[in-house]
Amino acid sequence: MGEYRMKALLKKGPGLDNVGLEEIAQPMINDEEIKVKVHATGICGTDIHIVLDEYPADYPVVMGHEYSGIVEEVGGNVSAFKKGDRVVSHTAAVTCGQCYYCRHGLLMLCEERKSIGSGVNGAFAEYVKVPARLAYNIPENISLDEAALSEPLACVVRSVIERATVKAGDRVVVAGPGTIGLLVLQVARASGGDIVVVGTSKDKARLELATELGAIDTVIVDDPKDKDKLVSLMGTFDVAFECSGAAPSADNCLQLLKKTGLYVQVGLYGKKIEFDHDLALMKEINMTNSYASEPTSWVTALQLLESGKVNVRPLISNKLSLDDWKKGFDIAINKEGYKVLLDPSVK
Ligand SMILES: [Zn+2]
Ligand SMILES: [Zn+2]
Repeated sequence: MGEYRMKALLKKGPGLDNVGLEEIAQPMINDEEIKVKVHATGICGTDIHIVLDEYPADYPVVMGHEYSGIVEEVGGNVSAFKKGDRVVSHTAAVTCGQCYYCRHGLLMLCEERKSIGSGVNGAFAEYVKVPARLAYNIPENISLDEAALSEPLACVVRSVIERATVKAGDRVVVAGPGTIGLLVLQVARASGGDIVVVGTSKDKARLELATELGAIDTVIVDDPKDKDKLVSLMGTFDVAFECSGAAPSADNCLQLLKKTGLYVQVGLYGKKIEFDHDLALMKEINMTNSYASEPTSWVTALQLLESGKVNVRPLISNKLSLDDWKKGFDIAINKEGYKVLLDPSVK
C-alpha cells in the first residue's frame, strides 16, 4: 500500500532555520484514535514561543494545537465519532493515565503529558490524529472557523470559571486585551461581573473592541489623559485577571484590587519577574494561576459558544493558507491582528 503524503509545518530543531513546510506521511491511527482533516488552525502564543525556542518541543514535530476539522477516519474501537463529524479536541494526546493528576482529570499536569503541536505531531497540517476520548463534536450553530478558537476559550474557562470565581456584581479588571484577554472579558461577563479592561496605547483598537464586547470601561495605562481615571480605580476591584504577561501589569493588578481581592495569573511571562508579595500579604490578596485547559473546560467552552454568550467571530482577524505561515506568524508576533487562522485547503 502506498503511503499518503501531506503538507505540514514542522519544527525540526533549534533556530528559525529549522521551521518550514514539508511533505510528510499522513498520520496512521490505532484503534482508539481518529484522523481529522484539518479545517483551520490558529496561531497561538505557544507556537511563537516554540518557533523562538522559548517553549520545549520534541523535534521534529508538526506544530499547531488550536484546530477544528472533519473526521476522516475512525479507529476500530471508536463508536462516538464517524467520518464527516465536525470536531475539536483537547491537546494532551499522551498522558500516563495512572498518576495523581491523571486520576483527578488534570491531564495538563501529568508529568508524562505530550501535547499535540509540541510533544507529538499537531495541526498545522492537512491531517492530524488524536485519541477519540479527547475529541468533542462542534455545536451545529458554530462554524468551523469559530470552533478553531475552542482551545483558547477552554483555557479561559479554566481561568475564569474553574480556577477563579466571578460572582454577579463583582468588579473585574482584565489586563491585556489580546485574544485571551478579550475572551476572559466575555466569560467573566457571562459569569455576572462588571468588567474594566486595561491596556497600553498600542491597544487602542483592542480596547474599542473590548467596549463592543461588553466592557463597562477601558483604561490606557500609559496615556496621561487616563492617569486620573487609573488612580481613581485603585483598590476597587474584586478580581483581577493578568493576561498580558508583562511584569508592570502584575503590579498594576495588585494595586487595582481591593483588600481580600482575587489575583488570577493567566499570561505567561517567559522569565522571572519582580512581584510585591508584601503588598499582596498586607492586602490579604487571594492568588491563583491557570495553565492551559482540562476536559471539563472544553465542555463549558463549547456550551458558551453554542449559547452565544461568547462571540469569537470578531477575534478572527486573518485567515491565510498554510503556505503563508510565515506571513501569519509575522502578524501574530507583531500583534497586528487578533487570532490568525491557517487553512491547509486554501491555495
Ligand atoms: Zn493555544
Ligand atoms: Zn499522569
